[in-house]
Amino acid sequence: HTDETARTVKTTCAYCGVGCGIVATPQADGSVAIAGDPDHPANFGRLCSKGSALGETLGLEERVLLPVVEGRQAGWDEALDRVARTFTRTIEAHGPDSVAFYLSGQLLTEDYYVANKLMKGFIGSGNIDTNSRLCMASSVAGHKRAFGADTVPGTYADLENADLLVLTGSNLAWCHPVIFQRIAAAKAVRPHMRIVVIDPRRTATCELADIHLALAPDSDVALFCGLLHALSESGAIDDAYVARHTEGFSAALRVARTIKVRDVAARTGLADADIRSFYDLFAWTEKTVTVYSQGVNQSASGTDKVNAIINCHLATGRIGKPGTGPFSVTGQPNAMGGREVGGMANMLAAHMAIENPAHRETVATFWNAPNLAERPGLKAVELFEAVRAGTIKALWIGGTNPVVSMPDADRVAAALRACPFVVVSDVLRHTDTTAFAHVLLPAAAWGEKNGTVTNSERRISRQRPFLPLPGEARPDWAIFADVARRMGFSGFGYKSAAEVFDEHARLSARGNEGARDFDIGGLAGLDEAGYDGLEPVQWPVREGAGTPGTDDKRFFADGRFYHADGRARFVAVEPPQDGTCAPFILNTGRVRDHWHTMTRTGLSARLSAHIAEPFAELHPEDARRLAISAADLVEVSSPHGTAVVRALVTDRQRPGSVFVPMHWTKRYAPSARIGAVAHPISDPHSGQPALKSTGATVRRF
Ligand code: SF4
Repeated sequence: HTDETARTVKTTCAYCGVGCGIVATPQADGSVAIAGDPDHPANFGRLCSKGSALGETLGLEERVLLPVVEGRQAGWDEALDRVARTFTRTIEAHGPDSVAFYLSGQLLTEDYYVANKLMKGFIGSGNIDTNSRLCMASSVAGHKRAFGADTVPGTYADLENADLLVLTGSNLAWCHPVIFQRIAAAKAVRPHMRIVVIDPRRTATCELADIHLALAPDSDVALFCGLLHALSESGAIDDAYVARHTEGFSAALRVARTIKVRDVAARTGLADADIRSFYDLFAWTEKTVTVYSQGVNQSASGTDKVNAIINCHLATGRIGKPGTGPFSVTGQPNAMGGREVGGMANMLAAHMAIENPAHRETVATFWNAPNLAERPGLKAVELFEAVRAGTIKALWIGGTNPVVSMPDADRVAAALRACPFVVVSDVLRHTDTTAFAHVLLPAAAWGEKNGTVTNSERRISRQRPFLPLPGEARPDWAIFADVARRMGFSGFGYKSAAEVFDEHARLSARGNEGARDFDIGGLAGLDEAGYDGLEPVQWPVREGAGTPGTDDKRFFADGRFYHADGRARFVAVEPPQDGTCAPFILNTGRVRDHWHTMTRTGLSARLSAHIAEPFAELHPEDARRLAISAADLVEVSSPHGTAVVRALVTDRQRPGSVFVPMHWTKRYAPSARIGAVAHPISDPHSGQPALKSTGATVRRF
């Protein structure tokens, strides 16, 4: 994969969960040419604006290149001794739950694996959570309730082969552009394909829509409960499938039957005729895929939304077959890999459950772990609240910027200010979060790192280095392993990312034999050359399952699920009480050309030119009522905080709603940090913050 002549390296994009393959070619002048990998099955050579601009974001000007202790440059020994000593003393004095890690879906699987092993196996606490909690935790919880495992059943090809695509809470055109390009190409070839977009905003994704349902925020459960009812009324239920492969249908239908089309219209604000058109399309289109993303997940009813969607697929038997299924699209490049290693507070490893004694025994034995955590740790919002309350006294933040991205972000900043010991490992010297670091550790960046990521269709893909490590930067897995050794723990003597991956693969096969979905035992035993040459491959890759990449990757084709009785579960979800927040509902999300807190995309002038400054998208009626004109400065505020941004007046927005992008930080727009305005309310099942429905006020500034 490294052609010494042309010096081209095949790697995977640093950004979203599509997981596009990239060909990177360092040039004689120090720049790097970036192109889509024509052989990668996620993108077949395509790239979006962000991916194609990666070469413009590789400069070292903003990097942290040496460890920093209390604001002064230090050596690795001093910095890591300080981290190991402080964590050890804190644990001795206050117990293992007095420390925590807060990590990132940007980390590679190998990084995540070592950090999770250290916290859950050796420190003995479940307090390791990540910004993936903000991304897809509700999908995880919904999958587990329905399937008994966190399984994404289908593949990207299913999206192309469907006759009906329902895109709900997902602005694919901007947030997963290459999937959107693949769908657009498929629709051009198969014009009978119908696309329904369910989104309160008329986003760029609606350009492909046959029907756009601009429903009221958080009314999705009512829409899909109404759909289940309509499927039953119209005779579209697959009774044989339901009887043979599922449990709980009657209870779910009993609840759904209380919701008639007129109730759906009242809750969603949609016209009866539009609702009926969608229901008819769904009822009579066998090959249907429902895609869901942050608009579903980032909600106080996020998990119920996921299950309301899955209920409709189970009821029609549209799962486990080509061109069908519910499909969660992941936001981050490695949110899936983080799930696979169990790198979140309520997981263990390899899709094993922390609450399951047999799973704990398997992992403890494999790791030779003296002190395996026995219960879940604190999820993101609770975790920072525990820091603020002083219960957590030492915190390590890796590869993420919670002072911008978390809800109630000023409170997060206050928590870090009060925390006795904050470690940050990152690639940048100055972010809103590194400002609070007692110890700042220079991490390797994309282009320097070596490891794997998993995309939204379960495809494991290599990130390969094509640049030398700058200064004294180190890979994250090596930093965590070094601290573990300095804390006196054995089992962290890894020499390479390949060794870490091998251990992860071997653990995934332990005590499995098909009892769990995640299993890559067939990838164990790769030597360095085999790991370097690993082709993109979808899991599972079970031991002896045949040549990687050739065995069947479709889950649930045989109607067997991962609950103990092999049956899927309907969940009897009810629409939430009307929680209308007056006078505005604040929705946050992405723009096309920026990524998260702009730490990388902010470095590209080309990307910043697409949308040059943050904005508040308002409906013309609201703007008129508040005497706000286009481009006025407006103040968006809640009981938690305030942001000031430019007004964007457009009928793409619903009256009563305001949309503000999530990206801008103090550095790029000093008063536009919208995370400070967002409320910290979370879904009760998943702990995912409801970042799309904060009650807010808007006024001209
Ligand atoms: Fe990268 Fe996602 Fe764009 Fe692909 S679609 S190039 S993975 S940002």
